[in-house]
Amino acid sequence: MKILIINSGSSSLKFQMLDMKNNTVLCSGLVERIGEAMGNVNYKKFPDSPQEEKSSVEQAIADHATGMRIVVDMITDSAKGVIKNTSDITAIGHRVLHGAEAFTQPCRVDEQVIQAIKDCIPLGPLHNPANLSGIEVAQELFPNVPQVAVFDTEFHQTMPPKAFLYALPYELYKENRIRRYGFHGTSHKYVAAETAKLLGKKKEECNVITVHLGNGSSLAAVKEGKCVDTSMGMTPLAGVVMGTRSGDIDPAIHLYLNETKGLSFQEIDTLLNKKSGFKGICGVNDMRDIHANIEKGDEQSKLALDMFVYSVTKYIGAYSTVLERVDAITFTAGIGENDDIAREKICAGLKIFGVKIDTQKNKTRVKEPTAMHLPDSKVQVWVVPTNEELQIARETMEVLGLNA
Ligand code: ADP
Repeated sequence: MKILIINSGSSSLKFQMLDMKNNTVLCSGLVERIGEAMGNVNYKKFPDSPQEEKSSVEQAIADHATGMRIVVDMITDSAKGVIKNTSDITAIGHRVLHGAEAFTQPCRVDEQVIQAIKDCIPLGPLHNPANLSGIEVAQELFPNVPQVAVFDTEFHQTMPPKAFLYALPYELYKENRIRRYGFHGTSHKYVAAETAKLLGKKKEECNVITVHLGNGSSLAAVKEGKCVDTSMGMTPLAGVVMGTRSGDIDPAIHLYLNETKGLSFQEIDTLLNKKSGFKGICGVNDMRDIHANIEKGDEQSKLALDMFVYSVTKYIGAYSTVLERVDAITFTAGIGENDDIAREKICAGLKIFGVKIDTQKNKTRVKEPTAMHLPDSKVQVWVVPTNEELQIARETMEVLGLNA
């Protein structure tokens, strides 16, 4: 049973094929710089393959349809490929950014679903059109393969109004759909469910704070398997300090920047999304560079790390109160999985909740889910590598009623 996962960005197309019978990844790849003078395609066949089964080609890729045709050629190639023809694929799962309130669960793609994704474009203006082109191209190239859309926002749809509403005139919610939606839902859902398994409990018995720390970062308070709060907002700009995004700021700063520096709203948006966060404080946005610069004595990098740790710790503190009882705090994504220094600093700020980690164990580099807490910690602390593709594949199968 082969499931193809497609994550279509504005100028990129990421894909992965999973064999759900054997629980293995068959191949994965990335088509980049679609629409630019020169594009790039990286492809890899698993298990970790000899050189001829990895390829990287540079060529102009006019649009998503061209990019997807290249993907089809690669996955059906007699030497490098993993299938003979496109009908060998059981189903396709698409990652879609914004489902607003229209989607509380994944859906099989049909005309109505496509229209509803289009209706969400004003809320996800960069991603939803790209996600739609991925779906439309896949429909054309895999005409008989069922397709499922899985939304980044859907896991957070269980939040109560007191958590998802902004204290703005209520009609802005009713008429303009302004509210907290939250993102990284597939990751939070996967990690929360895996944590429950690790604790030997049903997800309905478990309260978990999931801490997804990557280039973009967000946290979720997950009560008995359901999200009750999350740090990102109407857009992925809100919440903790991120690689290039500011996270939470006083909204009056917009007007102040406009009046004092003459910045347009577009310029302010770029400033907050692309020039802020770590980058704004210390000039680099990659956490590995921040640590390297701290080693060299750079004070701004130390400040960026301190601000990041402080903002994440504050959210965990807030969510501990929201959940009333916390069974586990689970770290995931690039920083969450790999950065023992950030994890140690964050946990050091959680002593009031009885969080105690094993600092030696925390230093070990892990690829598998690993417990980092001491036996007498009141809250378990886990590192669980996220796997959004696997989660999308599982949900795709569930929607289609397939069993591996
Ligand atoms: P994205 O949000 O783009 O999916 P990732 O989840 O891949 O991001 O995370 C990217 C972040 O993870 C970067 O800030 C990177 O520096 C950080 N990261 C990756 N490996 C390490 C590491 N070994 N130590 C610290 N940070 C790391």
